[in-house]
Amino acid sequence: MSNKEVLKTVIIGSGPAGYMAAIYAARADMKPVLYTGLEIGGQLTTTTEVDNFPGYPQGVQGPALMEDLKKQAERFGTEVRIGMVTKVILSKEEKGVHKIIVDDANEIETQTIIISTGATAKYLGLPSEERLKGSGVSACAVCDGFFYKGQEVVIVGGGDTAAEEATYLAKICKKVHMCVRKESMRASKAMQHRVENTENIQMYYNTEVEEVLGEHVVEGVRIVNNQTNEKKEIDVTGLFVAIGHTPNTKIFQGIIDMDTEGYIITKGKKTHTNIPGVFAAGDVQDKEYRQAVTAAGTGCMAALDAERYLAK
Ligand code: NDP
Repeated sequence: MSNKEVLKTVIIGSGPAGYMAAIYAARADMKPVLYTGLEIGGQLTTTTEVDNFPGYPQGVQGPALMEDLKKQAERFGTEVRIGMVTKVILSKEEKGVHKIIVDDANEIETQTIIISTGATAKYLGLPSEERLKGSGVSACAVCDGFFYKGQEVVIVGGGDTAAEEATYLAKICKKVHMCVRKESMRASKAMQHRVENTENIQMYYNTEVEEVLGEHVVEGVRIVNNQTNEKKEIDVTGLFVAIGHTPNTKIFQGIIDMDTEGYIITKGKKTHTNIPGVFAAGDVQDKEYRQAVTAAGTGCMAALDAERYLAK
């Protein structure tokens, strides 16, 4: 038998879901240990001002919000450890002990795990896009669209997210230029009609972004028609990339039930996964809402579910 200490709960991931789970778990005396992962603070650390998180009437910078959430979790005794969980060995038994391996080296045993590893927005991979991330390049219209009020922006993508975000931006911006790389959109017909019937959205099919222009902030975008090779520069102040997300679930593949895109499946309105004592919260199990506040909400739910599981 192992003499190792068995923790009550380990939280994997340091976005709003992870920290909110930690606040609840710590207050319930579960002495949570939270592993941050590589992107400490999660996706919000790559955004600038956050105006839609409750409790900040003047708005808050994304990294500052995450620092506040971390401090709040630590205030109640959460141990925040910098480290990447690289492997999990999960017990299928009710009340079984799970093992996690951190940084390919340290083995930790725990009764419950809350997975809040989030999702990563896909980007185009252009150096100019990388350089201007947070300075006009964004992967979240709902988070950042407001800053482009009355201005012209480009959005890239042809799926439901791009369609939804294009119509959202059209309400705020003067004009939205929408680039779809194929000759048609992948989005549902209803969404396509909505986009095409919005007056201030201009569609560009068979079109890709070749370069984001501007030294310190976005000043324009050069697009290219991939059929005719015709190039065009559009004067815009923002580029929204809406070409999908990748849930960070690689280490759970083949162990935890997921949908075809790799999002963790949770049971009904609960945060339970198919493994007893393992819960999932935030974007890793939600491809629809993807907001800091909804992620935080499910983090709270996961901690409550874990607490009840331990008390059973
Ligand atoms: P999708 O994978 O459905 O769509 C991604 C889009 O981005 C596609 O049009 C794709 O083009 C394009 N794309 C991918 N890579 C590039 C690239 N390098 N350059 C240019 N374009 C690129 O992702 P979504 O985020 O839109 O949706 C994910 C899931 O969530 C879907 O199942 C969707 O239906 C669902 N969803 C549902 C909503 C709702 O019901 N309200 C709202 C939002 C999402 P191509 O078609 O050529 O591959």
